[in-house]
Amino acid sequence: MAGKVKKLSRRSKSKLGCGVEGVRFRVKNSLYSILNLTPSTPRPNTNLYLQQLIWSLGFYSATLQPFYMKDIREIFPLLMQPKKAVIVMHQKPDADAMGSSLGLFHFLNMLGHTVTVISPTNWADWLKWLKGSDKMIDYELNPEKGNSVLDDAEWVFCLDFNTLSRARKMSTKLNDFRGIKILIDHHQQPQSESFVYGISDTSKSSTCEMVYDLIVAAGHSDKINEEIAECLYAGVMADTGSFRFSSATASVHRMVADLKDRKIDHPKIHENLFDNFLENRLRFTGYVLQHRMDIYYEYNSALISVSWKDLVKYQIKTGDTEGIVNYPLTIQGIKLAALIIDRDEEIKCSFRSKGNFDVNTFARTYFDGGGHYNAAGGRSSESLEQTVQRFIMAMKENASQLQ
Ligand code: 5GP
Ligand code: MN
Repeated sequence: MAGKVKKLSRRSKSKLGCGVEGVRFRVKNSLYSILNLTPSTPRPNTNLYLQQLIWSLGFYSATLQPFYMKDIREIFPLLMQPKKAVIVMHQKPDADAMGSSLGLFHFLNMLGHTVTVISPTNWADWLKWLKGSDKMIDYELNPEKGNSVLDDAEWVFCLDFNTLSRARKMSTKLNDFRGIKILIDHHQQPQSESFVYGISDTSKSSTCEMVYDLIVAAGHSDKINEEIAECLYAGVMADTGSFRFSSATASVHRMVADLKDRKIDHPKIHENLFDNFLENRLRFTGYVLQHRMDIYYEYNSALISVSWKDLVKYQIKTGDTEGIVNYPLTIQGIKLAALIIDRDEEIKCSFRSKGNFDVNTFARTYFDGGGHYNAAGGRSSESLEQTVQRFIMAMKENASQLQ
């Protein structure tokens, strides 16, 4: 079982040119080009030489940006020249992915760019109130249209994801894109070598906060109108758990105060995001909490596993399962909550934790995924039952960290 998942991940990584070897190759060649050397230039003790350089450049990349992705501030002057731009978010986008993409869409439109937003897949009905979402392309539904827009584009902004595989069926197209790829994201371990410009900052609450920072830093805060403010508020609010998580820093609150000054109706945005479901979704939530949740007190963990049959029975659509993974964390002592859903096409996993249990590493190690320290996701190509067994095995392997 383990072999199967590992093989899949290795295969997809090498297809995207992002395996460890690929990165090493790029690092080595970037070093050569920085030093104006060619890999064939003879030199004594190359390994030691490279080791010292890697150390010093590693320090540079750890403190600043990785050297192979240029600082996003370098695009600020270019913003004034109209371009054909595409904005892409991760598959099954959440409020932060959609809010940041549409906020940037409205902003770039105001600067005179021709902008198209593409989602790799469909999105939740309860996100359709976001202005501009009706103009988005669903790549899964309309790949020809998406491909022709991408063929024409000079810039592609990738928002709220940092590994091309998160763009699902669009990943190959994005990997092959010959224009300029720009990353704006706050997830861990970015595939930085895929982007020409970018900013990757895990200390940021949300990609919406990063788009706000970018607009302000580029000297365009006067362009933030109600439309942009609404999109950015929706994403930052969703990703901070309604300003509950520690990521809701003082700067986030200052940003929200500024957005409030732009006349957003914040109770309405909360209503649009949290009170915008159909009856079946609430009944489904009750059902899974009653019948599909297992608590493992000895590991301070809980798992909700949902079959394809359950989804069909309750007519569950994209986005209807969002938030369910948080419920087990309301139980005293629970540190790790997992939601495993058989979506038929794949098994989707969501992980949430409290305190010092790192679900990003957990998701990467066992479920071909990733995300943030306390919120991450992944997938499995095994059956639901096998994935549940894998979770139980993983939980046991992490018993000491879960204490
Ligand atoms: P969710 O559980 O809500 O789908 O995702 C939680 C967080 O983990 C989000 O920030 C999401 O972007 C990220 N995430 C979810 N699934 C994956 C995955 O398969 N791979 C990676 N790298 N990140 C994921
Ligand atoms: Mn986000």
